[in-house]
This record gives sequence, structure tokens and C-alpha cells, in this order.
Amino acid sequence: MSRLRSALGDRLAELRQVLKIVFGRSALVKGNVYELARKCGKPNCICMRGQLHRSMVLTWSEKGKGRLLSLPSERVMEVKKKSEAYLRFRRARARVTQIHRDILALLDRIEKLRREEPLR
Ligand SMILES: [Zn+2]
Repeated sequence: MSRLRSALGDRLAELRQVLKIVFGRSALVKGNVYELARKCGKPNCICMRGQLHRSMVLTWSEKGKGRLLSLPSERVMEVKKKSEAYLRFRRARARVTQIHRDILALLDRIEKLRREEPLR
């Protein structure tokens, strides 16, 4: 029982830790920032001879559809920072889901230990 209580305490401490990420105030941008190298399709362009057009893009999915946005160079660092913050937020959310499950499982075990049959 004391082992279960201490495990429950650990989960709550971890939850408090994880929620610090959620309580942050910085903006979150969904998506990944990366360099895209592509051919434009014009038959006489240099990209047809291997010199691909390079640009920084943000990609994300929206209602199951892949979206892509070209980023002006002066915004790349800022958007990248916000997209990393978004990723941390989502990881924290996933961790909360797991901690939540762990807590419920511990509560069930504590209930089982404390429960007794009604008097007859
Ligand atoms: Zn081209």
C-alpha cells in the first residue's frame, strides 16, 4: 500500500513537471520546418541539370491534408522555434495521457486493497 502511495506521488510530481511545458506562454506553430529542394518543371531551367531550387518550408497536416508554406528567410528562425515549441507541447500532452493512465491503474489497485465485502 505504501509502495502504491509513493508511486502515485511520483506520478503526480511528474505531472506537475510536465505541466510546466503546458503553462509556458510562447506561441506554438504546428508543423515541421525544413529545406525543400525541387525541380520547377520548366524544361530549360537549371534545375533540370541538377541544380535544384531550394527553399525553406513549413509543412503540417490539416483535416488529414498535407499543407505546405514557403517561408521568407527572415521568418525561418522564428517559425522553427515556434514549431519546436509545438512539438514539445505535443510530447507533453502525450506524456500526460500516459501519466493519467498510470494514475488510474494505481487508483484501481489501491481500491482493490482497501475494499471489503459488505457485512452480512
Ligand atoms: Zn527550375
